[in-house]
Formats: sequence, structure tokens, C-alpha cells
Amino acid sequence: MKTLIFATGNAHKTEEVALLLKGLVQLKNLRELGFQGDLPEEQDTLEGNALQKARRVYELYGQDCFADDTGLEVEALNMEPGVYSARYAGQENNPRANTEKLLRKLAPYQNRKARFRTVIALIIDGREHLFEGIVRGEILKEGRGTQGFGYDPVFLPEGHERSFAEMSLEEKNAISHRFRAIQKMKAFLETKLKT
Ligand code: IMP
Repeated sequence: MKTLIFATGNAHKTEEVALLLKGLVQLKNLRELGFQGDLPEEQDTLEGNALQKARRVYELYGQDCFADDTGLEVEALNMEPGVYSARYAGQENNPRANTEKLLRKLAPYQNRKARFRTVIALIIDGREHLFEGIVRGEILKEGRGTQGFGYDPVFLPEGHERSFAEMSLEEKNAISHRFRAIQKMKAFLETKLKT
């Protein structure tokens, strides 16, 4: 079976994605390869960051690999925080401060439409491919729920009555941006690896 490197050090993310790609590829993450540092994420788009990370891993290991990058894009805020979602309120990854800043900035607007967007950059047989997953919804006026992470308490997905943080992991994953992007890559790999 083909080995694919997932350019992340996050064991939890790896486990989730490995389950989705089971039987198709064998997934390895950066920790399993002995890589300890952080990958560069210096671009101003999700596509740019995903590609930058995947290219770095490809340079280091010369093996087929993919990287992802996700952002929350809020319509009234010109798609902010977007690529800066993890560090919206400062350098640190502080979800509470990030969410507070978002609610404060959005307070004057009626339009609370937002979307999570994930971009995956895959490098396979020396070629680059991009996959995108989107879930649309709106930003609640205050947080609800305790599950999940990041902006989950304030994100109400379209067609649902509960925020991401009020859903179980399985429920959220079934409709999430990340899941949709992975499904697209999976469909691509299924076709590619068959031929
Ligand atoms: P990453 O690219 O997956 O590391 O995501 C970047 C940032 O986007 C995270 O630090 C979170 O602030 C936010 N984010 C990404 N995915 C989610 C999600 O599923 N729920 C809530 N916030 C998320």
C-alpha cells in the first residue's frame, strides 16, 4: 500500500484522517518521521500555506505528502480572520481571545454569514494538487456548547440548530470543512491509485 505523509505533528488529526483513508494509503505524520520543529506558514492565503508546508516536507523526505490549512472566513469582515484564524488576537493560539475579538468586531453588523474553509495541498508523483472543503453557516452572538475547539462555540452550520461545539465529534466531522476536503482528496486518490 502507498505511504502518504500527512504534514502535521498532531496525532489526533492524523488518527481521524487515517480512518477516512483506511485501506487506500498508509498514513504517517511528521512525528513518526522524527521531525520535531514547526513547518513554515508564512503565506497570506490558505492555499499558499498548505502548499508551502507540503513543499517543505517533499523537499525534506522526497515522499508523497499532503498538508492542510484552515480558516474561518466572515463575510462582513472581508473574509477575516481567514488565514490568521489561529492568531487573530495575537501571536499565541488563544481560542478564547480570538473568539472574543471576532464577536467584538462583528457586533456592528447585521450580516453574520461565515464559512470554514480547508485547503489541502497534495504532492504525489512530483505533481501538486489542491482540494477545498467548505461549510457555510453564521456566527452566533455568543458561544454555545463545550465540544470541539477554536471557533466551534460561535459557529452555527447552515441547516442545523446546534453550534459545532454542541455537536458530538462524529456529527461535526460528518459535515465539516476538513472532512469535505479529505473526501475530495480521497476520491482523487481512489481514481489515481486504481490506474
Ligand atoms: P488549522 O489550519 O487546522 O491549524 O486551523 C487554523 C485555525 O483555524 C485553528 O487554530 C482554529 O482557530 C481555526 N479552526 C480550524 N478548524 C476549526 C474547526 O473545525 N473549528 C473551529 N475552529 C477551527
